[in-house]
Amino acid sequence: MTDTEKTTPIVTPDPDSSRDNEVRPFQIEGMDVRGRAVRLGTMVDQILKAHAYPDPVAKILGELLTLTAMLGSIMKFDGIVTVQTKSSGPVSMMVADYERREDGIGRLRGYADIDADKLATYGKNPSFKGMIGSKSGYLALTIDQGEEMERYQGIVDLTGGSVAEVARNYFMNSEQTPTELRLICDRDNVTGFWRAGGIMVQHLARGEEGQERILDRETQEQWDRASILMQSVKTDEMLDPLLDLDTLLYRLYNEDGVRVFDPSRVMHTCRCSRERLQTVLTQFDDTELSEMVINGSIDVNCQFCNTTYQFTPDEVKTAAANN
Ligand SMILES: [Zn+2]
Repeated sequence: MTDTEKTTPIVTPDPDSSRDNEVRPFQIEGMDVRGRAVRLGTMVDQILKAHAYPDPVAKILGELLTLTAMLGSIMKFDGIVTVQTKSSGPVSMMVADYERREDGIGRLRGYADIDADKLATYGKNPSFKGMIGSKSGYLALTIDQGEEMERYQGIVDLTGGSVAEVARNYFMNSEQTPTELRLICDRDNVTGFWRAGGIMVQHLARGEEGQERILDRETQEQWDRASILMQSVKTDEMLDPLLDLDTLLYRLYNEDGVRVFDPSRVMHTCRCSRERLQTVLTQFDDTELSEMVINGSIDVNCQFCNTTYQFTPDEVKTAAANN
């Protein structure tokens, strides 16, 4: 019998001076504009390296993880935010989820389902549209904050040239909130480790929520200015481990003044466990279980973290009998 414990994750070093793995909310003074900046270091590298994704896939999954951290950090209560894409292309599905627990820290994880052969036909640098396919897919956002709160689900067509563009459409269509955002995931020039960063600005609702936003000339100018400044962030700045988010935000908005709020911390943890998967196996009958046995063991793989748990048929039967 083999008892496979979770493999120790590779811990990629981040410089001590960096403030990676956090989401920083901010507000620009004198404008009805709020935003969120995200920086993911070590953890995004761990999540992406658990699978051998081609780089273009790792990049868009990293962007989806960044978006999920951004959205998850908005939750005021414990719960789970899930962002999922489904499409007809070689990247048929991506999913990322963020679980907020009592300590306020967000647990992030994610994976992509890909058809590597199909993807290879798109060349070395497939576009986002190529990866998700020409037939329209969708991006779904689900917010689950326990039994006391109503489960929320929003859906938007997977049209656009990037994850950020799809997210922007989502905010415009589902929430009628003018939103501009950037999401970046790339390898560090020096270490080769994956890093990710994102920034979002939104125009705050004035007056009645849910009404179509009509920006007057003055607010339109402010909004244009806030979004143009946001778009001016360089990729290097978004990912630089030595440039903390506060400094980045100050660089962008010091002329207007920017107020930053307490950050939400994010880490990578998968919710799978041996006990959980064993419980799943106990639901199958003997015939079904015997069909799963290969070389005397039943192997169950967690798609998120790619950990394989091995069980003997006897182990499962005993667990089922004790239930
Ligand atoms: Zn797992």
